[in-house]
Amino acid sequence: MMEMPYRRLGSSGLKVSALSFGSWVTFHKQIDLATSMGLMRQAYDAGVNFFDNAESYASGDSERLMGEALQQLGWPRSSYIVSTKVYWGGKLPTQKGLSKKHVRDACDNGLRRLKVDYLDLYFCHRPDHETPLEETVRAMGELVQQGKVLYWGTSEWEADQIAEAHGIARALGVAPPTMEQPQYNLFERTKVERDYARLYDSLGLGTTLWSPLASGILTGKYAQGVPDGSRMSLAGMEWLRAELESAQGRLRVAQAQQLALVARELGCSLPQLAIAWCLRNPRVSTVILGATSSRQLQENLTALEVLPRLDAAVLERIEAIVQTKPTGRAQY
Ligand code: NDP
Repeated sequence: MMEMPYRRLGSSGLKVSALSFGSWVTFHKQIDLATSMGLMRQAYDAGVNFFDNAESYASGDSERLMGEALQQLGWPRSSYIVSTKVYWGGKLPTQKGLSKKHVRDACDNGLRRLKVDYLDLYFCHRPDHETPLEETVRAMGELVQQGKVLYWGTSEWEADQIAEAHGIARALGVAPPTMEQPQYNLFERTKVERDYARLYDSLGLGTTLWSPLASGILTGKYAQGVPDGSRMSLAGMEWLRAELESAQGRLRVAQAQQLALVARELGCSLPQLAIAWCLRNPRVSTVILGATSSRQLQENLTALEVLPRLDAAVLERIEAIVQTKPTGRAQY
């Protein structure tokens, strides 16, 4: 397999593997400790150095499972990057959002469950309109000062909010946000390609992408309905299945079928094409993969080999498929 490239996380000095591995939906809900640990080992052996998590994933059990795996795997702490995210920590008013209290509690919970002394990356999972931005920036700055967090960032924030957080951090003399975690894939491009464009050079923003396969639509597996055991078939994922069954979802499934033909001509699979397409964007620091089996993970890691095949002509063909409705009308 091709050697894993490492990219700077924005303008920071941290080198993150171009492909990383996350635990949303999968850890604890779909796969147990043995499988999760096996997948982490497989990823690490392929050069993956970043493992993504959040306090909300499986209500804390995803952090617990990853912590147990990290302990059993026994890798040097200096050899991997681990994250968690704060926002949805529980039902009580004090257990959610980005108040100073919850930002600190979620960090301490994450450290305990992940069994680590510090978090490499700590994300605000969504913006919180009921907490002054200055309170959150101060809370994050303090955690960095205390050494509990190395880099903090945001997920799905507006560009203006990120810029404002930077301004506040500079004024307070505390650490500014280093990275954002946006959705980015062939169907969801606005934030990464348009909204954040002004932040990459001016603020040195790094990006850790989620759902490169649009939760599996970009594998082509939903062309003939929802396969048993797949993410869309799970209890609790009805909202995602509703999206799949919407007019937009059906269009995406159809576009995925056309993209699969391009992939076949390139001698790769659709997931490999879709992941390589994310990697071709130099503003992308890392693409976070999700997988429920070793076979899926192996296939996705091999996307690295497909990247050199994405020349201008191929990219143009891909663009024509994703920008055009089946009627031939432009999408925007
Ligand atoms: P993807 O869009 O790549 O979806 C991954 C899922 O697709 C897998 O769990 C599997 O589901 C299916 N799949 C993956 N590869 C294959 C394959 N080769 N063949 C067939 N099926 C495949 O990524 P995720 O949505 O999982 O996101 C990745 C990570 O990003 C998460 O783990 C999390 O860390 C992060 N994230 C962050 C968010 C945020 O708000 N910040 C939101 C969402 C994710 P199955 O087998 O069940 O069909």
